[in-house]
Amino acid sequence: MTRLASSMSPLNDARRIVVKIGSALVADGSRARQAWLNDLARDIAELRDSGREIILVSSGAIALGRGHLGDAVPKRLEDKQAAAALGQPLLMAALRRAFEGHNIPVAQTLLTLEDTESRRRWLNARATLETLLSAGAIPVINENDTVATDEIRYGDNDRLAARVAQMISADVLVLLSDIDGLYTRDPRKDAAAEHVATITELTAAHVSMAGQPNQVAGIGSGGMITKLAAAKIAWSAGCATAITLGDRPKPLTALAMGARATWILPRLTPDKARQAWLSGHLAPEGSVCVDAGAVAALKKGASLLPVGLTGVNGDFSRGAAVLIKGTDGQLVAKGVIAYSSAEAARIIGLQSDAVSTVLGYRGRPALIHRDDLILIADER
Ligand code: GLU
Repeated sequence: MTRLASSMSPLNDARRIVVKIGSALVADGSRARQAWLNDLARDIAELRDSGREIILVSSGAIALGRGHLGDAVPKRLEDKQAAAALGQPLLMAALRRAFEGHNIPVAQTLLTLEDTESRRRWLNARATLETLLSAGAIPVINENDTVATDEIRYGDNDRLAARVAQMISADVLVLLSDIDGLYTRDPRKDAAAEHVATITELTAAHVSMAGQPNQVAGIGSGGMITKLAAAKIAWSAGCATAITLGDRPKPLTALAMGARATWILPRLTPDKARQAWLSGHLAPEGSVCVDAGAVAALKKGASLLPVGLTGVNGDFSRGAAVLIKGTDGQLVAKGVIAYSSAEAARIIGLQSDAVSTVLGYRGRPALIHRDDLILIADER
């Protein structure tokens, strides 16, 4: 099967990359694979030097923590949660050691399903990740296993990584795995299996190729099916996904140079996908009116600030979709608002620094961030 030429590897054009590493790469039994982590840190440091922003989604807390619980693979949820609580600091310590020599701080970010699914919480998680990235840190994300119960749990970090990629508009999601991509059949059992290099539209046929989730060494929870489910989430957010082999020197550099992988390529860019989502999928729950200055600023691509606000209609909470209307009621835009209707009503026309005095806490500087709004042509 053909390999992607290095110039074609979407990694080379990516600005923001989410890299997911599974338990089998991070841990050998209940010990951290420090040499591999050190090599990955070098690889990531080099990618950052070439101007990329990297977010790491790392599994391995349960694997590393189980050493304290008799080393057996935990089966009951409470054992997994206890193992995760014990192992998460070990995971961060190993990663900190790996990145230390490159002078890159690592930032533990534990998320639950709700943080990526509910828009109110998602605005918070995204703001934190953006702040960490601009501070030059590497956010290291894992599921907050100790509080997540089965019903509210991802359980696998592949889909969590895809949700994170969607939330921060990443261009590429790299799923470092124990296999270099999707095969038409299980290559470990069937010599006739063929590697699939690129997918532009995921279908049921791909899912049936993926077979049953494989439990590598009994610790990871993913497998090819969850990787494809993750790729599907990323695809709809305009983010390309690579499924490739993690256990080789500098796996990201190798991928950029055209190493074998399955690339699932989206049709839209992250910007266009977000605009499609904003315009198509979000039912407005209220509206805000803004002055002529704000309308002009919005049309130039600015965020909506409280100072331009003249009125609030409806009863909505933070993270709701609202319409933005101009002075004579004309429709200007739609966006996801960072304040509830009650809060917004109290900060009408205020300068951003007066907001905290009135509300008693510091909210987001923008009422609606420019990335969360889409201009609408008024067709009246
Ligand atoms: N959050 C789990 C851990 O840190 C891993 C989930 C997964 O295997 O994807 O051990």
